Amino acid sequence: MTSSLLTDANRRLERALKHVHISEDASERLKFPKASLKVSIPVRMDDGSLRVFEGYRVRYDDTRGPTKGGIRFHPNVTMDEVQSLAFWMTFKCAAVNLPFGGAKGGITLNPKELSKFELERLSRGYVDAIADFIGPDIDIPAPDVYTNPMIMGWMMDQYSIIRRQLSPAVMTGKPVGMGGSQGRDRATGTGAFYVLAAMMAKFDRNPATTTVAVQGFGNAGSVVARLLFEAGYQVVAVSDSHGGLYCDRGLDIPSLQQFKASTRSLQAVYCEGTVCNLVDGHDTITNDELLTLDVDILIPAALENQITAENASQIQAEYIFEVANGPITSAGDRILEDRGIYVFPDILVNAGGVTVSYYEWVQNRSGLYWSEAEVSDRLKNKLVAEAEDIWRISQNLAIPLRTAAYVHALERLEAAHSARGTRDYYVS
Ligand code: NAD
Repeated sequence: MTSSLLTDANRRLERALKHVHISEDASERLKFPKASLKVSIPVRMDDGSLRVFEGYRVRYDDTRGPTKGGIRFHPNVTMDEVQSLAFWMTFKCAAVNLPFGGAKGGITLNPKELSKFELERLSRGYVDAIADFIGPDIDIPAPDVYTNPMIMGWMMDQYSIIRRQLSPAVMTGKPVGMGGSQGRDRATGTGAFYVLAAMMAKFDRNPATTTVAVQGFGNAGSVVARLLFEAGYQVVAVSDSHGGLYCDRGLDIPSLQQFKASTRSLQAVYCEGTVCNLVDGHDTITNDELLTLDVDILIPAALENQITAENASQIQAEYIFEVANGPITSAGDRILEDRGIYVFPDILVNAGGVTVSYYEWVQNRSGLYWSEAEVSDRLKNKLVAEAEDIWRISQNLAIPLRTAAYVHALERLEAAHSARGTRDYYVS
């Protein structure tokens, strides 16, 4: 997965470079991460033994501001993967004009094997190891796969102990009680909904006759499904790792959310007699079947590499909104493009999470805290404006939306690199 992530990101960058002038300085600088740190984290386990974990933090490019990116706890974490994801974050922050560069971090482990005590010791030990590499003006981590607000709270607390001053702005995605922002937990799904609604208005589509399938019913997918349901869209299919549900008249998303919360799986929901009544006329489907359903909008919101050269020719949706990171491979992309399917890219569609992380950092630094409505308004204005710009670039240059998003990001990265001005001393 790792090399394909980086290879795909590089292929997309190369495509975008054909449509935008960027200096050799900027393109040379963007080939290399600014700094990569590998650490060992010794942790006293509950049984008294000592285990040493490997952790990483990469700051890719900080020309536009301090670097920003999540921390992942996963068995597949490697330096290569962390560098690829930090590169990706650099483009995401630039695409939606956040004053940040890109970063990423991770620890190689299966977090489900650790007790809560062990997880806390590991999280604090990681901060002990990287404390000189991060900071509110240097690099600001956030949650990612298998990390959550509680872990961010422990990490912020540990950093504050080391610095001997409360430093809430060093981490985002914290619990609200520890300086987290209102609306952060729903930000990715909410941002995706704003982008989708603004873009669908261009196609004159009536929500009541627009069908949607959502792969992944987690933090991001369930929020976007719920908002689409409330806006009157026909959400006909949703799925999680156990499988999916289909109902051609539209699913009752609030009930599914409620039952998912109590049963933790959509298959279990299906088997509950009461929910079968609620979604009378539905069917169970596999995740592969969900992707190729005859719907208007497809929303991959689970994992990377879901639409590939193998299945792209079977996709029937007219529009794809990438809520997951990297759900379409570059080979899949080309097939979808040839077939005239609109793909709204991850670096725009799922940027709501990092945008509200930015708002959290701003609130921590100013000491002025905003209501959820204020956060939501700012998020909507920002993402819709950036989506409109990306749409315009795509139309003007006759290029796919993904390439347009990279062009948009590259123009900003180029401006930041060129503003340093030193190349002119030597090259006329
Ligand atoms: P999550 O863990 O809350 O939810 C993931 C969902 O995907 C779960 O419902 C899980 O059951 C489901 N899933 C797992 N394997 C699956 C499979 N094989 N087929 C179908 N469904 C499967 O995660 P999340 O935070 O919602 O993240 C989902 C995606 O969105 C990831 O790609 C993530 O990187 C991306 N994303 C999330 C955020 C955020 O703030 N949460 C921000 C940016 C991007």
